[in-house]
Amino acid sequence: MHTLRRIFLSSLLLVSMPWAYAQNSKGGVGILMPTVTSQRWVVDGLAMVRAMDKLGYRPDLKYANDDVATQIAQTEEMLRSPDMKVLVIGAIDGSKLAPVLKKAAERGIKVVAYDRLIRDTPHVDYYATFDNFQVGVLQGSYIIEALGVDKGKGPFTIELFGGSSDDNNAFFFYNGAMSVLKPYIDKGRLVVGSGQMGMEKVATQRWSGSVARARLVQILDKHYTKQRLDALLSPYDGISIELITAMKKANYGPASQPLPVVTGQDAEMPSVRSIIRGEQASTVFKDNRELAQVVTTMVDAILSGKKPTINDDKTYNNGQKVVPAFLLKPAVVDINNWRATLVNSGYYKPDQFR
Ligand code: BGC
Repeated sequence: MHTLRRIFLSSLLLVSMPWAYAQNSKGGVGILMPTVTSQRWVVDGLAMVRAMDKLGYRPDLKYANDDVATQIAQTEEMLRSPDMKVLVIGAIDGSKLAPVLKKAAERGIKVVAYDRLIRDTPHVDYYATFDNFQVGVLQGSYIIEALGVDKGKGPFTIELFGGSSDDNNAFFFYNGAMSVLKPYIDKGRLVVGSGQMGMEKVATQRWSGSVARARLVQILDKHYTKQRLDALLSPYDGISIELITAMKKANYGPASQPLPVVTGQDAEMPSVRSIIRGEQASTVFKDNRELAQVVTTMVDAILSGKKPTINDDKTYNNGQKVVPAFLLKPAVVDINNWRATLVNSGYYKPDQFR
């Protein structure tokens, strides 16, 4: 957290450079990110600032502490900036931005949805993200293969955790995972001990690890006193770490009672360390340096009067329109490939794991 804060503070210095500098820029690009409490959004924000700055734009990066009202106020403030040209938004609640984006449209400011779809408004021009359904498929498939359910082993028990229901991505992750898990649940090869299925039962408000852990503790007390828990579908590393803490408190971990297979997402440092220790089983790596690059290229195309490159024009209906999107590929990381995927690619430095 200390390091996160340091990186974050230096980013603020970088984005509040003197006006002389701003006046020479090709225009302001507002970058609105949800929170600094998760490493991925810090990396995203800084990568965007660097890339926009390099192309001669004036990046203005703001984090909203996972608070919707704060994000709306920050957006309003950016709209008042005379040189503002494009807003790049990692939404907190994807359905709450319609009124402020109407104002953006009236001022001719374009909007790119960053990683999370912005819903229920026509005023979102493009969307750049990863193949979110595929993220879920990778998580579900990991569980199936790790347990050997596809080889006829089992039956095994499983509990399902979803992301925040105000984040469109959470449904894609869950549906992707269930496209793999559900056939085995239907055949009784995987058993959801609590019976809790469907996003209305398994969602985790604001992706909070402690909320998820509290739910798991209740489930363990009620449904797992006479049987063990073999797998946990976790949508995000911050949740996975908390679930593992709860499992250890319930005496899972030793060889006689191994931890369940726990998935994750984002390849955040605590989870990669957990994978190396043999605790969290896997995560899904989404190279946000690539995402920032795609968005920067999109913004530059928009502001140069060109058509941005997209590779998907049907998946992301936001309730008002299908938002033209560019989808990147996610990748599974586990004990076997973490070094090749995360260190050899330069995403992490080797000495971060000594
Ligand atoms: C992102 C994930 C992230 C989650 C929690 C989702 O919208 O796509 O990468 O794990 O939010 O921050």
